[in-house]
Amino acid sequence: MKLLEGKKVIITGASRGIGTGIARTFAEHGADVAFTYSSSEAPALKLEKELNEKGVKAKAYKSNAASFQESEALVAQVLEDFGGIDVLINNAGITKDNLLIRMGEADFDAVIDINLKSVFNMTKAVQRTLLKQRKGSIINMSSVVGVKGNAGQANYAASKAGINGFTKSIALELGSRNIRCNAIAPGFIETEMTEKLDEKVVQGWRDGIPLKRGGTPEDIANACVFLASDMSSYITGQVLNVNGGMLT
Ligand code: NAP
Repeated sequence: MKLLEGKKVIITGASRGIGTGIARTFAEHGADVAFTYSSSEAPALKLEKELNEKGVKAKAYKSNAASFQESEALVAQVLEDFGGIDVLINNAGITKDNLLIRMGEADFDAVIDINLKSVFNMTKAVQRTLLKQRKGSIINMSSVVGVKGNAGQANYAASKAGINGFTKSIALELGSRNIRCNAIAPGFIETEMTEKLDEKVVQGWRDGIPLKRGGTPEDIANACVFLASDMSSYITGQVLNVNGGMLT
């Protein structure tokens, strides 16, 4: 069953990892997909071609989610190219891990700007369109770390905890206009972001997860399909844990 036929989605950071998984799954469910990348042009153009071959409209845009101006310009361009936006997925994110004693100001600022301010930039940029049509779903990519904290990730955890607060506030502000806003908090998902970690540490994590495996981008993409579709039409302001039971 195709759950997103006719919907137009914009996804930030879909040139790799979870974003690519979301773009593919949304295309399989019949959605038209506009997506961004920061520097990975070749994989982004390859994905654009792959999605178009699935019979939906898809287009890659180079846009820095941390920039307010670029986010405004992106949304204007997507509206011109696609003729509307029904779903926004704020997925772009980075890590710059270090213990506080070694964490520089630049690494704190970069993570907050790309992970958290980007969510403000993009939500603000699509708001007018969603308000006018009195319908929309916004999905923000949080993390288990935003609830639990993690040594060496104070910047990242703060950005994700910020996303949870932002999500709940926007749900309260826009609910009366039938615009829903939810977050997904992935646990340990095996992508390039987690490839940087030591294999022994990773195996320890897998062993500690009740479902005994790391998650896949598709595990997250399926949760996004649910929150984007009318199947979740009475769900807003929630942070959905998708973590194999890591945090219960
Ligand atoms: P990833 O493999 O490192 O991919 C990150 C994506 O974000 C790439 O497409 C990248 O584009 C894009 N990006 C980075 N900076 C950007 C910017 N300034 N503007 C626009 N796009 C930008 O990461 P991932 O594992 O798929 O993670 C995706 C999201 O899930 C992130 O928000 C992350 O925090 C969250 N998450 C991941 C995990 C996990 O275990 N993997 C767990 C919890 C939450 P380029 O390719 O062009 O650099």
